[in-house]
Amino acid sequence: MTHILIVGGGYVGMYTAIRLQKKLRQGEATVTVVDPQPNMTYQPFLPEAAAGSIEPRHVVVPLRRALPKCTVVTGKVTNVDHEHKVATVVPAEGLPTSMPYDILVMAAGSVARTLPIPGLAESGIGFATVGEAIYLRNHVLSRLDVASSTPERMRRALTFVVVGGGYAGVEVFGELEDMARYAVRVHKGLSPSDMRWVLVEASDRILPEISPAMSDYTIRRLTERGMRVRLNTKLVSMVDGHVELSDGTSFEADTVVWTAGVKANPLAMKSGMPIDYRGRLICTETLQARGLRGVWGAGDSAAVPDLTGLGALCTPSAQHAVRQAKVLADNIIASLRNGNLKPYKHKHAGSVASLGLHKGVAQVYGIRLRGWPAWLMHRAYHWSRVPTAGRKLRVLLDWMTVFFSRREIVSLGQIQNPRRDWELVVRETTHSMKGNTRTQ
Ligand SMILES: Cc1cc2nc3c(=O)[nH]c(=O)nc-3n(C[C@H](O)[C@H](O)[C@H](O)COP(=O)(O)OP(=O)(O)OC[C@H]3O[C@@H](n4cnc5c(N)ncnc54)[C@H](O)[C@@H]3O)c2cc1C
Repeated sequence: MTHILIVGGGYVGMYTAIRLQKKLRQGEATVTVVDPQPNMTYQPFLPEAAAGSIEPRHVVVPLRRALPKCTVVTGKVTNVDHEHKVATVVPAEGLPTSMPYDILVMAAGSVARTLPIPGLAESGIGFATVGEAIYLRNHVLSRLDVASSTPERMRRALTFVVVGGGYAGVEVFGELEDMARYAVRVHKGLSPSDMRWVLVEASDRILPEISPAMSDYTIRRLTERGMRVRLNTKLVSMVDGHVELSDGTSFEADTVVWTAGVKANPLAMKSGMPIDYRGRLICTETLQARGLRGVWGAGDSAAVPDLTGLGALCTPSAQHAVRQAKVLADNIIASLRNGNLKPYKHKHAGSVASLGLHKGVAQVYGIRLRGWPAWLMHRAYHWSRVPTAGRKLRVLLDWMTVFFSRREIVSLGQIQNPRRDWELVVRETTHSMKGNTRTQ
């Protein structure tokens, strides 16, 4: 039987597998999805998860539940030998294995595009996973605790930097500040004006997906909240939290979030597949890898022609990824049945971004919305897109909980390192027992 191997269980991987399991006939093919994570993450909701408007567990979808007819392997594909049609899979634990396939779907998405900035690896954090969203929420709330308990640490603790003004950066900037502004009220002696929020963007504008006028509007709204947006500025260094910017300013910060763009997952490059100048698997409009029979690609890791003429290639976005997955699955089935392949064509509808509770900006099909109507559209659009009915219900209940009983501001900073207290107790006990033995 034909074996379809899907590398990656994100947008493209999960939606392709869902459609395949629905449409494949009995005995026609088996489907395996390999991903290091057992869940698919609905990334557009990560900023709301970081801000406490949505429970983090509700922005991920367990792959094994969504894909009962597929085999899900928790592991990483480290290499593909397409000549022999074998992938190397390194499981979460254990030795690497070889996984033969007949059809391969490359859907490993993107990785953060970083620069060799001193201190970035040690003191910065990215923003693409649910773990990072949970960490940031606890971390920001814990900085308020530090600031109100240790006045000499206040300035540094209350300085928050986001690098990169795309939608991920702007949304996490707006959402986290909104949460911190609300939470700071319970801290005696602290006020929102004690906080310093800095968005650093290398180009001359933020949110390139929307018009310059809407981008300017977003900057104005953020600035009115006391937040600073530094355009044409780069992060130069951040050793031990000492942040230096290219415009000559420097300050201390406990929090630096890196959201300065993404690049294609390096798997296609490492496997010797045809890639473009950005490392993306070069695909045709029917989502087949150019010159590689049996290999398909879509999403952030693929260079797919944009047939609408908006751009040469489809932009890396969930909007394209979901729609490409549908065409990709249909084309795989058509290829199995010697049918006709369909080209992928979708006109990018626009963008919606949340800037905190009841604040947003949107430009969809040329319609521009600001403030709460934009925020409502952001929620309605993403709610309609979040996978599975169960997740939709949970997200709705989360929003209602926040609406009726206000935002939860508990900092669970301890979960960043839950074993620390335990190890300390065990060490102290061991130490005192050794001391007792000596004195006896
Ligand atoms: C914070 C944030 C907010 C966003 N908001 C929006 C938005 O509002 N609108 C929008 O259109 N887009 C948004 N995006 C972008 C959107 O999420 C991506 O474009 C989309 O996820 C791309 O889908 P994909 O399937 O290509 O990659 P992903 O969904 O990232 O899936 C890739 C999968 O591959 C897995 N993987 C990686 N390496 C390997 C390997 N070696 N072997 C096996 N598996 C591997 C990963 O674990 C992951 O599960 C946002 C992104 C972020 C980070």
